[in-house]
Amino acid sequence: MVQLTVDLGGRPGADCRGFCEYCYFRHVGDVAPLGCRYCPPFRVGCDYCSRGVKEQYSGFKPLSTVADDILASLQMIPDGIDRVTISGGGDPSCYPEFRDLIELLGSMEAPLHIGYTSGKGFDDPAIADFLIENGLTEVSYTIFSADPALRRRYMHDPTPEASLAVMKRLCEEIDVYAAAVVLPGVNDGADLEQTCAWLDEAGAKGLILMRFANATEQGLILGNAPLIPGRQVESVEAFRRRVTDLSGRYSLKISGTPLWDPEIGSPFAILGEPDLMEKLPAVRAQASVITGSVAAPYIRRVLDARGGCDVVPVAKEIACLITLDDLKSLDPADLEETVIIPGRCFVHDRQASELLSGDGTIRTVLRGPDMLTADAETSMGMNRNDVLQMEMEGFSALIHCINQNGRKK
Ligand code: SF4
Repeated sequence: MVQLTVDLGGRPGADCRGFCEYCYFRHVGDVAPLGCRYCPPFRVGCDYCSRGVKEQYSGFKPLSTVADDILASLQMIPDGIDRVTISGGGDPSCYPEFRDLIELLGSMEAPLHIGYTSGKGFDDPAIADFLIENGLTEVSYTIFSADPALRRRYMHDPTPEASLAVMKRLCEEIDVYAAAVVLPGVNDGADLEQTCAWLDEAGAKGLILMRFANATEQGLILGNAPLIPGRQVESVEAFRRRVTDLSGRYSLKISGTPLWDPEIGSPFAILGEPDLMEKLPAVRAQASVITGSVAAPYIRRVLDARGGCDVVPVAKEIACLITLDDLKSLDPADLEETVIIPGRCFVHDRQASELLSGDGTIRTVLRGPDMLTADAETSMGMNRNDVLQMEMEGFSALIHCINQNGRKK
């Protein structure tokens, strides 16, 4: 599928009518670059880990710039496009020239997809029909709650009734994937039941529940924890049970992040497919595979089934959000001479090698595959076979990396 991505620019909070209380970009301080897979070998910090990850852009791009970007992209795509996706650091619904933008994109006659909107910028329910007429076919739309008062209070949506009316109308005609960060004591319990029922009745395709994070180890890596001082956080297991329970009682697809997608059985759906695991390469060498605390037991079970390998969890729950600070808590002496870190983690390779060789033994630090499985945001539009294929590819790549670089067993 040939996809054209239209980046509107913009900044979280500033270009979405003020920060939602739970926004992961809230309170982001002036933190030093973390280092990442894109950094050059001798410098910690590149555009991605200095600015991109914080969505630190300079506001929405003017429509003329967006149009120029589209023209430049189209020149590189000779055979036409199958889909147009609108993205950006700000919220598309708050884009000042939103109607002109949609008319421009609608004239391209390819299905339109809004990658993310909170709907906070929609003040007039009639915008829904305008979007449908101009070819919108899919949208990810934050609901938070079907109760307008909660949207007003926690999302700072000035016109929550209109935003919900737009969402409801879109649900009637196109694929709407709703999203909600679950704030314990606010939009959980009876309110969440009401939101699920509202979405079911409206005809939404799915709902992704996101566990609220309030601490660095839960993933707030930009010096911005806590987001809401004193606000309690649900354990990963309790959150998983909540997702399972709701998913069984409503007809729309309900999944959660960091865990889980009950319909597909992911992440790590492969654990339910012993025949497929048999097809993975055997583990013939020893290395230390560093990962987050949520994924570690699952990865260990897969690798154990193929011969076993040292899987080392850090306190950070999400592997992709591991930073150098997480590696500091490890004792290098406990690690093999080949260490594999998650492909997308925010660690500079050279700093990791220096740190993990701190006991005098030189260790080789390598990056593993970008993804070993699909989180709920990724699996929402996938079927079980797609996810299993992704996991087969991810684990095959990881085992090859271990076998090629590790200590032979
Ligand atoms: S709309 Fe999204 S990006 Fe903007 S403040 Fe809310 S959560 Fe953050």
